Amino acid sequence: MSEVLLRQEDREKFIALFLEENAVHNLSAARTSEAVGALVEDSLAVAGLLELREGQSLLDVGTGGGFPGLVLAQAIPGLSVTLLDAVQKKCSAVGRLATALNRTNVQVCCGRAETLAHQEDLREQFDVVVAKAVAALPTLLELTVPFLAREGVLVAYKGPRYEEELLQSRTAQSELGVELTEVHAYTLGQETEPRSLLFFRRTGSLSDRYPRRDGLPKKSPLL
Ligand code: SAH
Repeated sequence: MSEVLLRQEDREKFIALFLEENAVHNLSAARTSEAVGALVEDSLAVAGLLELREGQSLLDVGTGGGFPGLVLAQAIPGLSVTLLDAVQKKCSAVGRLATALNRTNVQVCCGRAETLAHQEDLREQFDVVVAKAVAALPTLLELTVPFLAREGVLVAYKGPRYEEELLQSRTAQSELGVELTEVHAYTLGQETEPRSLLFFRRTGSLSDRYPRRDGLPKKSPLL
């Protein structure tokens, strides 16, 4: 699937640039082409499932070194992609990577989701929000859902044991007005444990209260 979405030469360019940036700025534990290749592959897992279309907007909350958002921006040039992270060093690095990859469809927003989600130009603005390895689901929903446009879709990248998180997120789902619509299991390369993509759709209204102030969604999740 991903071969279709990211040409071999684009993939190699991404991996080479990422390794260069990572060697200097320490963005990720992935230090070999294979390891970065796996992150690229994982990032693309959502692309064939969502029918991401030209002109849609996608936000990656907690993008770190650009996964999955920067990879999706490279694979789907018509998608308008915003990469968000709280750490300035990571924001600068993904900004440099986006420039080196000639990505004109990428913007970087540096700051905490708790704060940025109350900003008018970001709140309830995105067709799709994605997040990978950022927080447990009750916290993650509070950090991501406020960015979703009405009827927007959130995709949470999770591991094989997502069920408990899902059960714990019932309150967060109803408070924030989202419903789980699909769970997609997939495996990467030689791995035997499946990974999962959890799809949520925004269906309800959103209170101004959310997200609560910096740190609270993690310290005191909506349980
Ligand atoms: N998605 C990337 C990075 C995961 S590490 C990957 O899968 O490789 C988690 C990232 O989320 C870190 O870069 C951290 O700075 C960011 N993050 C965590 N909490 C955040 C918050 N409240 N607001 C913004 N970014 C956050």
